[in-house]
Amino acid sequence: MMKFFMPTKVCSGKGCIVEHAAQLKTLGNKALIITGKKSAKANGSLHDVQAALDSLQIAYCVFDRINSNPSLATARDGARAAKEFGAEFVIGIGGGSAMDAAKAIAVLAFNELDDKTLFSGPYANPVLPIVAVPTTAGTGSEVTQYSILTDDRLETKSSIASEAIFPRIAFLDASYTEKLPVPVTINTAVDALSHAVEGYLSVKATEVSNILAAESMAIIGKCLPLLDKGPLGFAVREQLLYASMLAGMVIAHTGTTALHSMGYSLTYFKDIDHGRANGLLMHEYLEFIACHHADAVEKITGLLGMKNLSELKVCLDRLLKEKETISKQEAQRFSAKALQAKNLLNTIRKPAREDLEKIIAKSFAV
Ligand code: NAP
Ligand code: FE
Repeated sequence: MMKFFMPTKVCSGKGCIVEHAAQLKTLGNKALIITGKKSAKANGSLHDVQAALDSLQIAYCVFDRINSNPSLATARDGARAAKEFGAEFVIGIGGGSAMDAAKAIAVLAFNELDDKTLFSGPYANPVLPIVAVPTTAGTGSEVTQYSILTDDRLETKSSIASEAIFPRIAFLDASYTEKLPVPVTINTAVDALSHAVEGYLSVKATEVSNILAAESMAIIGKCLPLLDKGPLGFAVREQLLYASMLAGMVIAHTGTTALHSMGYSLTYFKDIDHGRANGLLMHEYLEFIACHHADAVEKITGLLGMKNLSELKVCLDRLLKEKETISKQEAQRFSAKALQAKNLLNTIRKPAREDLEKIIAKSFAV
């Protein structure tokens, strides 16, 4: 049995928002725009969305209070703003944080839900239509049914996973990513790489998801060595955004795996950026998988254009630079947390808690 479902209409290319503005008219007459504090104003994306809405006489209100790794409280504030304004659809502009917050806001606008039910569903009332404008090339959230929020109740990051929050439209214009700072470019590219790699190593992988993952890895493999070598240029930025979207389509089908499960603790407890957290653990995670699935890991390094895992390690070490310090107690605590994560079950080699602790300890030379 093979299922492939991708309901998001993707429009891409420089100027695509203004060019395809008419699509927005089908979603309603009042939009809540959801952004982070600064970047959407600086990179031209907010301006283009506002110009498109103005041209269609769609009223809008901007909610620009999304922090990285958005909290449930912020999503609830956004939902209140959506209700007060009478929003008929939402537009999330930014990295994964703003797009994920927009998805949670779309759910909460008409649904009174406690924290637990927000993550599990069901949602009795409609979810507002969602438009996504990625301005980082990493999460693929513009084409996924996930919204990942900081969950203080469980001291980790928890996901909403519901077909109701697939964006209706994604606008991919790489010009918004041209001024991304180098560390954000690296961390987000490594997140996209993790999605493609983990999708390939998921028990839910299908022939189609593997084709998308392979293409994504081939592109990211070519881009990785360039990421810390000065301005990337538009063509490379466009390739990264495309590869990140492909990897998003992959995890929409396969979910993420133990690598993301472990990464969540590094973000929650150590404030390490999401993509960086995955990257710091990736080599040891792949060594662990390779013990039982050497062919799959060889295929991955081959697709990346690398000879072996050591070459990937050298590349990641160079890009991610000095690692944070993790204590033995932290490695134990984080592995226990990761063991409870839903996505752990997708991993083709099921890790025990001790395996996870070893991966974390080796990654940080504990
Ligand atoms: P992010 O937290 O959305 O953004 C990181 C930083 O980059 C912010 O300071 C942001 O500033 C800035 N930024 C964004 N776009 C920029 C641009 N074009 N130019 C300059 N600066 C820019 O980072 P992210 O890595 O994209 O997203 C991470 C989040 O996505 C995590 O919460 C992660 O769990 C989630 N995620 C979701 C999925 C999914 O399928 N839904 C998959 C993977 C990860 P502003 O705050 O000013 O905008
Ligand atoms: Fe991710």
